[in-house]
Amino acid sequence: MRSVLEKVARQNVGLSSFDAPLRDHSWWKIGGPADLLVQPTSSTELCLLIKCLREYEIPHLFIGDGSNLLFDDSGVRGAVVKLGRNLSSFQIKGRDVVAEAGVFVPKLVRCIGKSGLSGLEHAVGIPGTLGGLVLMNGGSLRQGIGSNVRRVHAINRAGEELQLDQKACEFAYRKSALQHSRLVITRVELSCVHGDAAEILDRMREILRNRRKKFPRRYPNCGSVFLSDPKNYSAFGPPGAIIEKCGFKGFQIGNAKIPEQHANFIVNLGNASSSDVLSIVHAVRNRVFEATGFLLNCEVRYVKTTGQQVPAHEHRCDLQIT
Ligand SMILES: Cc1cc2nc3c(=O)[nH]c(=O)nc-3n(C[C@H](O)[C@H](O)[C@H](O)COP(=O)(O)OP(=O)(O)OC[C@H]3O[C@@H](n4cnc5c(N)ncnc54)[C@H](O)[C@@H]3O)c2cc1C
Repeated sequence: MRSVLEKVARQNVGLSSFDAPLRDHSWWKIGGPADLLVQPTSSTELCLLIKCLREYEIPHLFIGDGSNLLFDDSGVRGAVVKLGRNLSSFQIKGRDVVAEAGVFVPKLVRCIGKSGLSGLEHAVGIPGTLGGLVLMNGGSLRQGIGSNVRRVHAINRAGEELQLDQKACEFAYRKSALQHSRLVITRVELSCVHGDAAEILDRMREILRNRRKKFPRRYPNCGSVFLSDPKNYSAFGPPGAIIEKCGFKGFQIGNAKIPEQHANFIVNLGNASSSDVLSIVHAVRNRVFEATGFLLNCEVRYVKTTGQQVPAHEHRCDLQIT
């Protein structure tokens, strides 16, 4: 495997590293080494890389900023392809924005706001790349980026470029067809509405102030762990409130803990393992099921050592609900 990976790495000289600790690429600061980490600098390079990974049958996955990912302590046996600041240019023209997938969302939406365009204020505090946000249809205040997406440019597993319009992306609450497509998003066309720049920036500041009050910031975390399912929201409230009612604030396994500040977060106190986090996920899910009769599902995705991803609650599904 190593000699094959070296051949792949030679195509991306300078931006590839072997045995790269994935904890350095995850907001949770958890995760063992990836056999190879590649950070392409252009979509042409990305196309070539995908063809090469396919030709040598190397397991691989694409990541953005790792703000929604739990890597395994054993890392990934294969290649992790990171789309970040090397693919982060964007242009704003009239009401339209075209941005590369690796752009950091808070930076992009601030620039959009400064240009007097409204609609993306809700995303100002979400610490990931545009590609990750679109794939997750992420957002805050019960909004999702999908409503502003006009077209997604992507590359398939054969290394061919293609485009999907908003309908083809099938955006739903924190879901999109892209999650099951095995496509890598390279560029996104967004459309906004005109507004007053000063008011838009004020709104963003207000959103950031509220987030700072609500969310834990001291220890590494991946934001909300469980999805707020709109169907259950009206009956039981947001996941944080349900988890709190079940007595989990302060609950700790190993070095992972549900903080006092917000029960839908799990923080890494310093040396948490992926199984510490997964054990908390299962403990919470089981207890909430006993109390309410419904199962919380994870927003956070767990990356197996094979490079495959599943919502974190789906891993270790052999655990019984008691
Ligand atoms: C402190 C904190 C607060 C958060 N608050 C929110 C919030 O308010 N709302 C919210 O929705 N989320 C929130 N999140 C979660 C996370 O920031 C979002 O899901 C974010 O959009 C993920 O982007 P990323 O670049 O980090 O993606 P990653 O975590 O790297 O990846 C997420 C998924 O996207 C895939 N992916 C990434 N880039 C691409 C690409 N270019 N092409 C194809 N697939 C790709 C990955 O394979 C993976 O399946 C928060 C996280 C943190 C740490």
